[in-house]
Amino acid sequence: MKSIDILIVEDELLIAENLAMKLEALEYNVTDIVSSGKAAIKKVNSQNPSLILMDIAIKGDIDGIQTAKAIRLTHDIPIIFLTAYADDKTLERASKTGCYGYILKPFKDRELHAAIKMALNKHQEQNTIQQSLQAKIEHYASQCSPKNIDQLTQLPNRLALQDLFEYILSECDDDFANQSTEINQQSNSSKINQDLLGVFYFEIDRFKRIFNSLNNENRDLLITVIAECIANTLAEYYGATATIKLQNSEFAILVAGIKQQKEAKKIAEQILSQFRKSFIINDLEFFLTASIGIAFYPFNDTDAEQLLRQAQQAMHYAQEQGGDQCKAYSSSLQLISSIANNNLSIETDLHYAIDRKELELYYQPKIELKTGSIVGVEALVRWNHPKLGLVMPDQFIPIAEQSSLIESIGEWVLETACKQTQAWHKSGFNDFTIAVNLSGRQFKQLDLFHKLTQILFDSALKPQFLELELTEKILVENEKLNIQRLNFLKKLDIQISLDDFGTGYSSLGYLQQFPFDVLKIDRCFVSKIEPNSKNAVITKSIIEMAHQLDLKVVAEGVETKSELAFLVDCRCDQVQGYLFSRPLPVKEFEQLLFSNQRFEMINSELLTVDL
Ligand code: C2E
Ligand code: MG
Ligand code: MG
Repeated sequence: MKSIDILIVEDELLIAENLAMKLEALEYNVTDIVSSGKAAIKKVNSQNPSLILMDIAIKGDIDGIQTAKAIRLTHDIPIIFLTAYADDKTLERASKTGCYGYILKPFKDRELHAAIKMALNKHQEQNTIQQSLQAKIEHYASQCSPKNIDQLTQLPNRLALQDLFEYILSECDDDFANQSTEINQQSNSSKINQDLLGVFYFEIDRFKRIFNSLNNENRDLLITVIAECIANTLAEYYGATATIKLQNSEFAILVAGIKQQKEAKKIAEQILSQFRKSFIINDLEFFLTASIGIAFYPFNDTDAEQLLRQAQQAMHYAQEQGGDQCKAYSSSLQLISSIANNNLSIETDLHYAIDRKELELYYQPKIELKTGSIVGVEALVRWNHPKLGLVMPDQFIPIAEQSSLIESIGEWVLETACKQTQAWHKSGFNDFTIAVNLSGRQFKQLDLFHKLTQILFDSALKPQFLELELTEKILVENEKLNIQRLNFLKKLDIQISLDDFGTGYSSLGYLQQFPFDVLKIDRCFVSKIEPNSKNAVITKSIIEMAHQLDLKVVAEGVETKSELAFLVDCRCDQVQGYLFSRPLPVKEFEQLLFSNQRFEMINSELLTVDL
């Protein structure tokens, strides 16, 4: 029997040695005992054990759960947690590391034995699934018609992209479906965890200069070496992948089964690190670096060609930043590139945007389903750029957020939205709330409380009519401090809403500790809701659970009558979306507001009724 190598991570030496003895008696091979997370990460890199037993409460900078997370990003090693206590929160955190079980201390030998066997079996099963997917992909690629194969590398070429992409998606379809409906009603927590497919775009930096210095034979050799380097790294990765040869030194890599974007970045960095050495081709020595751009399905787009373009754009950005690095695509890259093409400086332009009155708020109504009336409005910022035209927030907010610019923009949005709403209230429409999106940097501003007090005072808006929308990304790091911050804000009597619920590692059980008033279900769940579909099940569960926690639920992005009918059925409280109205500039929004309309669903027909 092949020996099973086990690494023990435990900071109490007596316990660790006792455990090692038990394991040896069970005929396992203990490779080492380490007492800190950092030492464990180091050991794993040099030893590659078959399994890790990890104490959760280890001393040092990072605890067992953080250590496991870091290890699982780069290694496919099953980890079993050892813990003396198991509160729900700890177990919830542990479960997010993709762990293979936990054992409560003190435990009996046979419990230890059973847990190890189960973990190894589960791991074996998963590997078999991954391997068979990899084998299927390779078989599929080998069946491509000759015109879809690159003759030099024997890899599929650009013409095979769409087919391969669709093939991988169809083969992974069950994974996508299973993962995203992983809802555990009993523990009152919903875990929505969608697998990602990464599209990598690879290119050698300063490719032209290097290629021009080579003859044809050496060029071909270089390409073959690059293909080998990529293949070597991917062979270490436990998920399924497919490599496509594009033109010149460019390659596309499809990577299935990614749980977090960070994981993709690690893989890309491992590929890049292979190039940080000298290459010798026909006695010529080279120093190469490369850059990689990544786009994610379904996060950035759902179309293969579009994803490849986005990944290429991200790769160009990585090269502009000096090369030898990897960048993920974000929609702000579009703006960055048009700004660069127009020789503009986005930072400078954004800086002056407020003074030059280029920012504008659009308003989108939220409709209460019980009454059909507008009970709230979300303020959404736009930038009227003198040369680029209307720029959407997704494109410039992430850039503003990299500097203190977001603080002045955010303050302007808050002031403008509060003043405008107070003006509407004064003209008789005095019963709706204004929701303002808060960025992470704004939320962490030390004087936010002070600023809000000032803005509310200056505008004379009653605080209960102001709602701040925050995303869960902002809240999960440093959660204790964030709960305190939110409680502090609640003292002002404003409302707090959780935006884009479902797009992160959402867990209602966990978020219950935050003092939210409203939960907004992200539009990716609402869109194309069909009865009994995956999205329908998720949406219904989220609404039920949120109600149990006394939260009001708003569904975002409602575009069709059938989506609306389903939401009415699920007793969703409020809806927002193009079906009722797009976000509108002040004047147009006033027309809607002053027309005094109510929206009503009668026999599945959406009617507007004048009051
Ligand atoms: P969000 O807060 O989730 O806002 C909802 C987005 O969904 C808006 O996009 C809105 O136009 C869009 N939307 C609404 N109904 C529908 C629909 O039926 N179908 C579809 N396809 N889309 C719909 P927008 O205005 O482009 O804003 C994007 C994001 O930018 C916002 O997402 C928010 O996170 C951020 N943002 C907007 N304004 C501000 C701001 O003043 N400050 C900060 N920090 N972020 C902002
Ligand atoms: Mg919002
Ligand atoms: Mg949202």
